[in-house]
Amino acid sequence: MQQDPQVIRQAIGQALQESLSLQGGKNADYIPFLAQVPSHLSAVAVVTAEGAVYQAGDSSYPFAIESISKVSTLALALEEAGPAAIKEKIGADPTGLPFNSVIALELHSGKPLSPLVNAGAMSAVSLLKANDAEQRWQRILHLQQQMAGSALALSEEVNQSEQSTNFHNRGIAWLLYSAGYMYCDPMEACEVYTRQCSVLINTTQLATFAATLAARGMNPLTRQQVLRKDNVPCILAEMTMEGMYGASGDWAYSVGLPAKSGVGGGVIAVVPGVMGIAAFSPPLDNEGNSVRAQAMVASVASQLGYSLYR
Ligand code: GLU
Repeated sequence: MQQDPQVIRQAIGQALQESLSLQGGKNADYIPFLAQVPSHLSAVAVVTAEGAVYQAGDSSYPFAIESISKVSTLALALEEAGPAAIKEKIGADPTGLPFNSVIALELHSGKPLSPLVNAGAMSAVSLLKANDAEQRWQRILHLQQQMAGSALALSEEVNQSEQSTNFHNRGIAWLLYSAGYMYCDPMEACEVYTRQCSVLINTTQLATFAATLAARGMNPLTRQQVLRKDNVPCILAEMTMEGMYGASGDWAYSVGLPAKSGVGGGVIAVVPGVMGIAAFSPPLDNEGNSVRAQAMVASVASQLGYSLYR
């Protein structure tokens, strides 16, 4: 479907303007690096399934991908194990609890329920076939780059900041292991998961990542089919159920698009067959979702009239 470029330009410009007056939220501070990213940064971008790119604000500022990386690792795990095994070995349900909740595990006999919370994401990392941590990591980075359509790199600074403070995730990795939901060495899975979160990406690259899902697994800029087409609906379903953590239900109700956020301040949303939308701004609300990025994505979707449920 072709959209009028002028209408998209106007929509992202207005979304950015509206967001600048939003003052709420606070940078994530449990990862020391994230606490010092300038809070005023704001960006929004759209990449269409045909490959047209629109951007506004600080769209070339690189920030930590964090949990949005869970989407591409889920895609890899799906390619390897298939949808039925992912549902059984990780899950396809919302947790209704915070992204790093131990209670969520306790309530379900140690099953993570979703590959888009920390527990399920570490399980997904552990499911990938690899001889060692380096190979596991390279597979993950490769797909992130294919979806973003650009070379991406690990930030040593973010990685160091996260690896030296990720005790809670290490605890979760051992709980998964004891419950039978960890499929490689738990500390290897946690270490590689932490690296995958520490990759730097900018808002335009993130919109391309989302557009790859919108274009049924084909990156619309490189024209490469980088995901198995048949798995894309499963990825979008997982995003709908858990992509915005505890706010996923509210988001489905009010915006109606599969989405994923990260504590680095990024948010992506997918309009299947049409476009990927991405936004970035560091301050987060109590659920761990960027205040301004959510508002920008919601504004673009509403101005352009996109919701799955319309
Ligand atoms: N690296 C972060 C963590 O594991 C990612 C969390 C997020 O973005 O939601 O806590």
